[in-house]
Amino acid sequence: MIIIHSEEELKLIRASSRIVAEVLKKLTKLIKPGVTTAELDKIAEEMIRKRGGTPAFKGYKGFPATICASINEEIVHGIPGFRVVKEGDIISVDIGVEYKGFFGDSAITVAVGEISSDIHKLLRVTREALFKGIEKVRAGNRLSDISHAVQSHVEKNGFSVVRDFVGHGIGSNLHEEPQIPNFGKPKQGPRLKPGMVLAIEPMVNMGTFEVEVQEDNWTAVTRDGQPSAHFEHTIIVTDGEPEIITM
Ligand code: MG
Ligand code: MG
Repeated sequence: MIIIHSEEELKLIRASSRIVAEVLKKLTKLIKPGVTTAELDKIAEEMIRKRGGTPAFKGYKGFPATICASINEEIVHGIPGFRVVKEGDIISVDIGVEYKGFFGDSAITVAVGEISSDIHKLLRVTREALFKGIEKVRAGNRLSDISHAVQSHVEKNGFSVVRDFVGHGIGSNLHEEPQIPNFGKPKQGPRLKPGMVLAIEPMVNMGTFEVEVQEDNWTAVTRDGQPSAHFEHTIIVTDGEPEIITM
């Protein structure tokens, strides 16, 4: 995994994550009943390229698009297309950007119009779980302190964390060591050091944590068909407070 040493590296990785944040913010505003995921994908790609970045997912292991757009029971890796989002849906948008050799990665789940109160709680708890994990991003803590904090918050609220997909180191590649599961005992794994860059990304299901992958070989869905939410940030470990660079 990369350790950020210089001001120049810091500048570049912040810049790549800033692009991710700007695009996600824009897409969030555009998500309304009637929009298609292909339209969102096109806007995201244009915005990234205009800023000198490259969509990091496009072509990654053959993924065909700039964003992952995962609706309702879709957990992650949904392929944008002509599906129209409708009132009451939730849509998870995940974006990765490469800028001058550095990567940023972030995801958000957005409500389309009015959603039910139980789905609203799912979104709230998933986002809170991400921030419970981020609170543990402190030099000297162990990696699984993050995992444990995420899992505890989710399960306390009656939901489940996905096991099959995990967070990851990031920096000069989209996915680097170490893997960051959203579950596990505390005080395990490597110690966090200043300069490490982590992508923490709880995927939280309303029902069972079991997943299935659809025939497109990408879209992961909940086995029981209940909804799932996903929030992710890219974070730098520092001597003090963690720096969230995709915000
Ligand atoms: Mg992501
Ligand atoms: Mg990621």
